Amino acid sequence: MAQPVTEPQRAAQRRVIGAVRTSSVLTGGGLAMWREHDAGEWTESAAGLSQDLDILGVPHEIVVAFRPPRGREPRWREGREVRVAFTELRRLVRWVPSLQQPIDELPAQAPGFTFAYREPRETGTAVLTFSSFAAEWPAWTVIQAAAMGLLCARCGFDLRTRGAGRRPAYNIPGQAGTRRLVCGTTRRRTRGPGTPGARKGPVDGLRRGLRAVCRPSAFRHARGCRTPARQPAGSAGNRRQAAVHRRG
Ligand SMILES: [Zn+2]
Repeated sequence: MAQPVTEPQRAAQRRVIGAVRTSSVLTGGGLAMWREHDAGEWTESAAGLSQDLDILGVPHEIVVAFRPPRGREPRWREGREVRVAFTELRRLVRWVPSLQQPIDELPAQAPGFTFAYREPRETGTAVLTFSSFAAEWPAWTVIQAAAMGLLCARCGFDLRTRGAGRRPAYNIPGQAGTRRLVCGTTRRRTRGPGTPGARKGPVDGLRRGLRAVCRPSAFRHARGCRTPARQPAGSAGNRRQAAVHRRG
């Protein structure tokens, strides 16, 4: 380093290294460190972490982020996530050199911070994103993903495992502010209303031109619409995201 490191920088560096080691997630979007909203004194708050990053000259942002409920908790857990964009990571690596290796090993197709889904509208299909999930969302268990609404509402397909836009998640438009994601395709409707198999139901909420692969009629899955077995650790779903170190 060209300039001598000051004592406040040293102290900030120690705290940031600790946060990266214990509670950071590296994604295609960058690095995120999650903090419970009402963190106790033993946990450095998101604001404190932000101050340290300011001292170190690392650009970042703080966003509201949610994790799945624990046990029988009824609600999502609200937190704050301090995010350093991928393009700014080199500034963080200067202070946390151990980050370089996981950055180098991150797959090119690693998902970013947001989960994308579509919604049929009169004017066409809108692509929307969820930015409020904690950055670790690709690594959640199937049970956690279910709690966060990331499984198909009809057949339970894990919408996170869709490949490169082939299995997009569609939201069935309903009441404002509600989401009900299904796995869908943009296949044209081929059956008329009188045809056996065509039923009235939530699927009618899908606008013309869009048809859900899975139907409300049964948990009998249409072709290509299967509930995957739970993935073993280290499988494709988990590999997509390289967790540097995650708090349990
Ligand atoms: Zn489905």
